[in-house]
Amino acid sequence: MAQKFYSTASAGRFVDLKQAVLRSLPSDGGLYMPAQMPGPDEVLKPGWRDWSFAELSYRISSSFFRGSVPEEDLREMVGQAINFDAPLVRIGDGMNVLELFHGPSLAFKDFGARFMARLMGWLTREDDRELTVLVATSGDTGGAVASAFHRVKGTRVVVLYPSGKVSALQEKQLTTLGDNVIALEVRGTFDDCQRLVKAAFLHEHLSENLNLTSANSINIARLLPQAFYYFYASQQLPEETRPVFVVPSGNFGNLTAGLLARRMGLPVSHFVAATNVNDVVPNYLRSGHYEPRPSLPTISNAMDVGAPSNFVRILELHGQEHSKVVDQISGFHFDDCATREAIREVGETTGYVIDPHGAVGYLAARAWRRDHPNDEMVILETAHPSKFLGVMEEELGPGAVEIPERLACLAAREKIAVQMAAEESAFLDWLSGIAP
Ligand SMILES: *Cc1c(COP(=O)(O)O)cnc(C)c1O
Repeated sequence: MAQKFYSTASAGRFVDLKQAVLRSLPSDGGLYMPAQMPGPDEVLKPGWRDWSFAELSYRISSSFFRGSVPEEDLREMVGQAINFDAPLVRIGDGMNVLELFHGPSLAFKDFGARFMARLMGWLTREDDRELTVLVATSGDTGGAVASAFHRVKGTRVVVLYPSGKVSALQEKQLTTLGDNVIALEVRGTFDDCQRLVKAAFLHEHLSENLNLTSANSINIARLLPQAFYYFYASQQLPEETRPVFVVPSGNFGNLTAGLLARRMGLPVSHFVAATNVNDVVPNYLRSGHYEPRPSLPTISNAMDVGAPSNFVRILELHGQEHSKVVDQISGFHFDDCATREAIREVGETTGYVIDPHGAVGYLAARAWRRDHPNDEMVILETAHPSKFLGVMEEELGPGAVEIPERLACLAAREKIAVQMAAEESAFLDWLSGIAP
């Protein structure tokens, strides 16, 4: 039977893959979870350690979706989405870094966004209308989503970003793709962008006419592909190794994907959640109390989250029991001073250039190994250091970070963006203009 999904807020009702992916958020305020998790025997057939990254990814998604997508189509989607590597780099005794930044937007969000884009394209392949994806961005998500949907048949993506409030590079990532990607430069803040997106979804006529959907980060289709690289990391370690995975975390999607991987048979001994001063989850692990609060800005800004959206999924996977959660996950948090020191320490002692998010992970790995000196650590390096050039050069000196070619090329491309006032009426008018 094909996979079904239920909402964490109402366990008895199920939706199919199409609804879970295109609706993204259940109306009851919960998050979608798979009704049946494939077990280890289903996913890890003998010889799995020799499978290519593409084969591994296909097999995992195939067990997870259970016949919701035909084999050939799923293979093609996975192959197109996961077309870059995730190498494991040894930086010291028992310390490994899993580089997740080799995709087009230089952050691990490419895995989820690229797969979701292709799956959405496939799910709507027989609909007579094009799918219109709306996304508001404060910086990074927009780049990953825009590049993921670029030239995906049957889809069109509209990215709203606040004028003058994203970095020059981020702006280029959004505004130079063209084709089915439209950038809207909103004269306002990120909150204005979110407000406009919300207004569009509430406008029933437009929402229906444009076949609107959102590329929200809690979409179950963005979560699953993040399980692939945990298995791939395991393949790159000596057999029989049960590593500790250290996950620099904000909304805790990445860590949740690791927990799903464990259910599917990933050899792992423990998870370590690494955060900056936005330490709501490490606090919960210590005290048993979950107390969300407004986020504070840090140099590892993709983790500046005060109410992690995937926390309910973590609870759900452990039957809502604190004692079961702490059996699997430990938490550490570090401030910006410690993070900067770690960037220098890693650079000076190993020669490895680690970005601020990975540096928080490195600190947590070191803290864990103080009590577990024989454990093999895998630190997820979530972004390329060139995305944080300012901080990196302050700690390591000018020229210390190599700029990847695809980033350097962006600077020369021409920006094309539609200018938009931060007013609902203006935005809705514009949207009616692109409706069929
Ligand atoms: C989004 C992001 C994170 C946080 O990942 P979550 O899945 O939200 O916990 C960490 N590092 C980087 C670079 C990111 O872009």
